[in-house]
Amino acid sequence: MPQLAIHEDCTGCMACYNSCSHEAIEITKDDEGFSQPVVIEDKCVKCNLCEMSCPIVNPLEEKEFQPHAYAAWHEEDRSVSSSGGAFSAFARKVLAEGGIVVGAAFDKALHLRHTAVNRIEGLESLRGSKYVQSEIEDTFRTIRKYLQDGRKVLFCGTPCQVAGLHGFLRKDYDKLLTADLVCHGVPSDKVFQNYLKKLKNRLCTAKDELYIEKYEFRHRDGWGISPSISTSNNCQLLYGVDALYMEAFDKNALFRKSCYHCPFAKIPRVGDVTLADFWGLGRHGKKFKHSVTKGVSLILVNTEKGNSALKNLDNTFIEERNIEEALIENHNLIGASKRHAKREDIIKAFLDERKNLDDIDRQYHLVDHSVKGMIKMWLQKLGLFKPIKALYNWYKSL
Ligand SMILES: Cc1cc2nc3c(=O)[nH]c(=O)nc-3n(C[C@H](O)[C@H](O)[C@H](O)COP(=O)(O)OP(=O)(O)OC[C@H]3O[C@@H](n4cnc5c(N)ncnc54)[C@H](O)[C@@H]3O)c2cc1C
Repeated sequence: MPQLAIHEDCTGCMACYNSCSHEAIEITKDDEGFSQPVVIEDKCVKCNLCEMSCPIVNPLEEKEFQPHAYAAWHEEDRSVSSSGGAFSAFARKVLAEGGIVVGAAFDKALHLRHTAVNRIEGLESLRGSKYVQSEIEDTFRTIRKYLQDGRKVLFCGTPCQVAGLHGFLRKDYDKLLTADLVCHGVPSDKVFQNYLKKLKNRLCTAKDELYIEKYEFRHRDGWGISPSISTSNNCQLLYGVDALYMEAFDKNALFRKSCYHCPFAKIPRVGDVTLADFWGLGRHGKKFKHSVTKGVSLILVNTEKGNSALKNLDNTFIEERNIEEALIENHNLIGASKRHAKREDIIKAFLDERKNLDDIDRQYHLVDHSVKGMIKMWLQKLGLFKPIKALYNWYKSL
């Protein structure tokens, strides 16, 4: 029988599932809600394609290209993106050339899945970081079909998903551009859905059912960035216990087991380009002459193909920076997140229907209730936290 990655190591990239044309791989969910492939013995013809495509069992060849780092933003899309809109800059170019862009979008029930778009308007649903593992389903097969038809394709995803796509394709296509995100880790859809249920119970009044149309992990509001929910008639920013999912995310408590020893959190990176927040820009070494408050992307160029794609971008500010500067404050570029000591218990608590968000917070102290933490929360609520932090950083850099 083919040997796939063991449970602790499997990233759920779906390369094996996509490579099997005999329907001999079933996608099951583990207790924590993460997708897990299982080989069905009766249907397996032992061709081993699944094993060969697995980037954990069969690591990809490493690139020899010397990566370059750039600070960048797209003029138009910066304000509606997570960082500086670098993803949109690449996506717009591919779409303008008649190509397809594949990224993660929420469906109406707020389940995240990889989706292909062929029009600029479609980019809206792809933009923005969603801090939950997206379902790949048969996306890789769809991408191969587009490539075989001669279409350009931009694929954006977590590094394991980009590795999965390369493992599945097992050859380089000139018309494929891959963008991997610097990734802190991914929680399961099951934990996210349970959090949403608990949040609704916490926020809804006795007579009103709360219907959340949109959840934004990084809603930009003036100077601030907070998670938010939108209903048909309002948008509400979330703080403290209401934002418990993000508190647990930031504390590395909810990730897939493989995330804590992610083999793709390193240089050379797996995509043609790597996209991230440019944290620490201008604070370490060469000064940065422009304002960073509206969001700046870090783009790492990892291949010649990535390099020519960068050179072709329209309406995009680009400045080359020292790669060391990019590494100092972004540890997930070259290392996995450290597992929270109570990870298993915290995930169980989020999945436990009897527990509400306050119970979980009381038990695991995820929200900082100290005076300092409360001041920070109020400054965030008033939109003052980021300007004060920017002032402080400016003062320190004098
Ligand atoms: C789970 C996760 C963890 C991250 N951790 C870090 C980090 O530790 N440090 C850091 O610097 N940056 C991190 N990022 C990346 C960062 O948040 C931005 O997504 C990135 O800088 C690109 O921003 P942008 O403005 O160019 O594009 P945006 O418009 O924000 O587009 C983001 C792109 O990412 C895709 N995407 C969004 N969510 C997912 C998902 N769950 N799975 C796969 N693809 C997705 C979208 O489809 C889109 O293509 C993370 C992103 C995710 C999704």
